Amino acid sequence: MSNDVGEIQVKDLNTTHFQFQQAADHLGFSDEFRALLLTPYRELTVQIPIKMDDGRLAVFNGYRIQHNGARGPYKGGLRYHPEVDHDEVLSLASLMTWKTALVGIPMGGAKGGVSCNPRNMSQAEIQRLTRSFVSKIHLMIGPYRDIPAPDMNTNPQVMAWIMDEYGKIHGFSPAVVTGKPVGVGGSLGRNEATGRGVALVTAAYGKRKGLPVEDARVVVQGFGNVGSHAALILEEMGAKVIGVGDIDATLYNPNGFNTKKLHQHAIEERSIKGFPDCEEIEPASLLELECEYLIPAALGGVITKFNADKIKAKVIVEAANSPTTTNADLALEDRGIVVIPDILANSGGVTVSYFEWVQNIQQYRWDLDRVNQELEKTILGAFARVMDRAEKENVSLRVAAYLLALQEVAEAVELRSGF
Ligand code: GLU
Repeated sequence: MSNDVGEIQVKDLNTTHFQFQQAADHLGFSDEFRALLLTPYRELTVQIPIKMDDGRLAVFNGYRIQHNGARGPYKGGLRYHPEVDHDEVLSLASLMTWKTALVGIPMGGAKGGVSCNPRNMSQAEIQRLTRSFVSKIHLMIGPYRDIPAPDMNTNPQVMAWIMDEYGKIHGFSPAVVTGKPVGVGGSLGRNEATGRGVALVTAAYGKRKGLPVEDARVVVQGFGNVGSHAALILEEMGAKVIGVGDIDATLYNPNGFNTKKLHQHAIEERSIKGFPDCEEIEPASLLELECEYLIPAALGGVITKFNADKIKAKVIVEAANSPTTTNADLALEDRGIVVIPDILANSGGVTVSYFEWVQNIQQYRWDLDRVNQELEKTILGAFARVMDRAEKENVSLRVAAYLLALQEVAEAVELRSGF
């Protein structure tokens, strides 16, 4: 629906995030300016036909959505999952716009994905899917245009195939994608960066609010790249990881897991299932365990109005993107449970992606200490800004994060466009 001159009306947009509107109200943005900030710049939906290993033809849907590029080239991951669709990709693309703005890296927000189930596909099939996808979106991406990265079910190997396929058309361009293996221009520390950022933010919150991670009980939902590294680093910091879940099993150990052994088991078995000396519990009860820090690190939308009342954690650290629904967010706030929002908590990944891009552009490798130091400086700076703003304005950490991010993006839009 539109008005008499055919303008987009803000109420018609299907991704009018509650958080965005709350922050935009606070900042007094007009409806037209909201439409400008919510509408994606460019979207592409492509058909990806590939031959499966058994000779059958299979056709998949692929998406790349560039949300806002006022602050720099578009940036954001590629997700391979059966639930990927246009609306999910658009919502995640806008999240990237706010995330890059909040941490202050000079990039915009994008996201992409393919609706597929990589758990039931061979490596050869995933490679063909990736190369075919790149051949369809190559005009839209590029080192100064749009830089994909890993997200759910994509990994450094997939990024290497993207670089290779893009390079066949445009010439060697490692900066077209981040999260690559170190051997082909990836950054040291990128693989564990999201988990490290989660741990750094959790520890900083604990220090500031008198809830130290030393001896704190931590529960992690999802033991993929993000959840496993967050657990490993938090245990190194002195926390006790008492509950862990993945798609196949949910495990409880009140004395704390040996996360190194659990990680090793997960790599060898491709699951935490079967890990010895712990209790297997119902998946739903994981989020309801009594603990100091609950870390959802898997799918979105897992904390809802149906389970928000049962959560006993003191703090939720959103390692996943959008794990908490809006209704749950409000219910948790009423109950005094603090939520450290995704755009802050999981920003370590895109931050080190930016460092990788910088290294590729300069053709100069940083050592691991430098990567980790710069990550710590960047994410703890954003953490302090969010905490200060929340305390000053008496708003939740999520609203404070959105206020800061929206202001950054709005300033860039105004300076560049004159609107
Ligand atoms: N997919 C990650 C995220 O949601 C990383 C994105 C990137 O490194 O560009 O933040």
